[in-house]
Amino acid sequence: MTAPPLTLTPVGIGPAYARPGEAQSCYLVRAGNRAFCLDLGAGALNRLQDHIAPEELELLVISHLHPDHCADLLALRVYMAWGPGAGRRMRVLGPRGMRERMTAFAGQEGWDDAFAFEDMAEGGGEVDLGGGLRLRYREVPHLKPTFAMRFDLGDRSLVYGADCAECAELADLARDTDLLLAECSSGAAPVPEGLAHLNGAAAAGIANAAGARRLLLTHCYPEHDREAALAQARAAATMPVDWAHQDREVAA
Ligand SMILES: [Zn+2]
Repeated sequence: MTAPPLTLTPVGIGPAYARPGEAQSCYLVRAGNRAFCLDLGAGALNRLQDHIAPEELELLVISHLHPDHCADLLALRVYMAWGPGAGRRMRVLGPRGMRERMTAFAGQEGWDDAFAFEDMAEGGGEVDLGGGLRLRYREVPHLKPTFAMRFDLGDRSLVYGADCAECAELADLARDTDLLLAECSSGAAPVPEGLAHLNGAAAAGIANAAGARRLLLTHCYPEHDREAALAQARAAATMPVDWAHQDREVAA
């Protein structure tokens, strides 16, 4: 029996402040008729509904607690507790302390009606999603803790690097993957001292070290030249490189 296709659809590609028309970080993963969401930054819940009714998601995974990766949990809580998702609880896997962070902002009501929160394990871990689908996550250097994640289904795989600095951890997680989605916060510019982010060359370096078969760049600040960043990444990379485009589905 061949496995169903594994695909990635960028829903929001924007960083901490996005360009007009961009939502912040959000990626839809489909495995056959199953759907999973990676991160839910500001504006993402709205755009997500062009692809799926949010309550149909099997799992939402939050990479870290920077607002551009989780802010729309505030809106999704209302949707799930009192809106169209009422009566169902969404499984949400994320860093320890996520629920407390959210309730500190928006109060206690509705969260446990809306969500079944699960903490990620320190350093990394693995979730068997059934049907041959496996999720692995691994801590990467950024806000502590931040987790990159990998889906494997049959002989296909895809990896979302979350936000991170240059590191061996992401290359390890992404070993021989079909598709690596990597942040490119700094475009083609040097990553400012002390910031745990990537530029095009650094993203390509990780993809090369991993032996990834395809690299997609995302999460670029509006002031950077994306053509220059793509050229920089392509010059360094040993595999095809493109920008992630909102709403454009790619197969692993
Ligand atoms: Zn971040």
